[in-house]
Amino acid sequence: MRSTSDTIAAIATAPGEAGISIVRISGPRSLEIADQIFVCKGPLPSHRPAGSFVHGFIRADEDGKAHAHVDEVILLIYRAPHSYTREDVVEIQGHGGRISAKRILRTVLSNGAVLAEPGEFTKRAFLNGRIDLVQAEAVADLIAAQSDRAATAAMEQLEGHLTSSFGELYDLLLSTAADLEATLDFTDDEIPVAVSHTIAERLRQAKSRVEKLLATWEEGHLLREGALVVISGAPNAGKSTLMNAMLGAPRAIVADLPGTTRDTIEETVILEGVPIRLVDTAGLRETESAVEREGVRRAQATIKRADLNLHVIDCSQELLQADRDHLSKTKKGQCIVVLNKTDLGPKLTGGDFGAFSVVSCSLLKGEGLADLRRAMVERLNLQSSGIPHAAISERHRHTVQNVLNVLGDALTMQDLNRTDCTVLVSQLLRTAIEQLGELIGRTYTDELLDKIFSRFCVGK
Ligand code: GDP
Repeated sequence: MRSTSDTIAAIATAPGEAGISIVRISGPRSLEIADQIFVCKGPLPSHRPAGSFVHGFIRADEDGKAHAHVDEVILLIYRAPHSYTREDVVEIQGHGGRISAKRILRTVLSNGAVLAEPGEFTKRAFLNGRIDLVQAEAVADLIAAQSDRAATAAMEQLEGHLTSSFGELYDLLLSTAADLEATLDFTDDEIPVAVSHTIAERLRQAKSRVEKLLATWEEGHLLREGALVVISGAPNAGKSTLMNAMLGAPRAIVADLPGTTRDTIEETVILEGVPIRLVDTAGLRETESAVEREGVRRAQATIKRADLNLHVIDCSQELLQADRDHLSKTKKGQCIVVLNKTDLGPKLTGGDFGAFSVVSCSLLKGEGLADLRRAMVERLNLQSSGIPHAAISERHRHTVQNVLNVLGDALTMQDLNRTDCTVLVSQLLRTAIEQLGELIGRTYTDELLDKIFSRFCVGK
């Protein structure tokens, strides 16, 4: 791991043409570097107070021309510990576009800074104790958020909602372990029964909190990764028309010729504040064409890992064997049958599909789309409870599930009410505490930090 005695720098804004771009410098030499590269009226940056913003120019040092300037900029000065990283930080706001920002960065690097790794500014904020690991992850979630609801959840996590849930659990387990370990000094008949019951009661409390946390994963998963919804059906049933209707803009090719959509097309739409990754697949049918066969194979693989399958059927025709085969292999709770082309006179109705959830529509006329959206919200359980809380991520789920298993074992043993189990129960509690400690970053390994911060962009 790189030492925090290095001064790091990176472009903090996205590439492309824009009004301004920002180069950020953090570390002990930030102000010294600013003094070397910045030309302004009045005192040098290092002689100015925190919070100063100063107009000036970045001096070119690459071509040796004494008066050449790289850009006209505003320089912002933060002093440790009152900055994002808790170190001395200088931000240089230059003109937008990649070239200007790159030239400023090059000048900063040639004057003693090193290029920041992805997420290194946030990693320093964590290492310097400004935020914990769960909050650091919320920064990445906020940047990646694709909907208002996802951004709100990330902000709640950044503000510490999830941290305090984990923290309260950690403290509860720690105090329970301490009380339990205190009983190790007693002989068998000296431990009051009430103590044993209190410990069991607290373990039960902890277990119920862990279960509640685990239950938030589903929402967290939907908000972070989005729900994967796959559109399937025989060629010409209206899959591409459905995709376009959901998007509100033509994206998939709609054609009278069966087998037009040969590959999967993915687009994101927002439903109830949740990103829906909508995939239009190749029509499911037996075919001689190798390209189309590959399309069908991919479609089937995508359907397998989908959260929901919208199976489109042309209801003006008899039911095809391919549809029967598909539905017989599909879980009813994960599928909505879309009976399309009702305008042509339906030969099939909801009653033909038993326990499947069925929506009738004429996608060409835009009829039935609202019903379909409602059915999707219900099937995917997208409705928000409206209560502010942060939801756990995949990394958290893994640990929280382990903690739940360990607490289950501890509780079973504690309920036996045998003093010879006390050591084992306290060992189990220590394991749960260690795992939770790693989750919030009270203890951590370099590998864990690398894994978390490699998800970030450079400059954050
Ligand atoms: P895909 O092969 O399943 O993707 O089917 P397409 O979306 O390309 O549609 C095949 C044909 O059916 C196109 O000519 C569409 O315009 C037509 N179509 C789609 N939905 C309807 C509908 O509700 N009613 C009628 N009459 N035609 C439709």
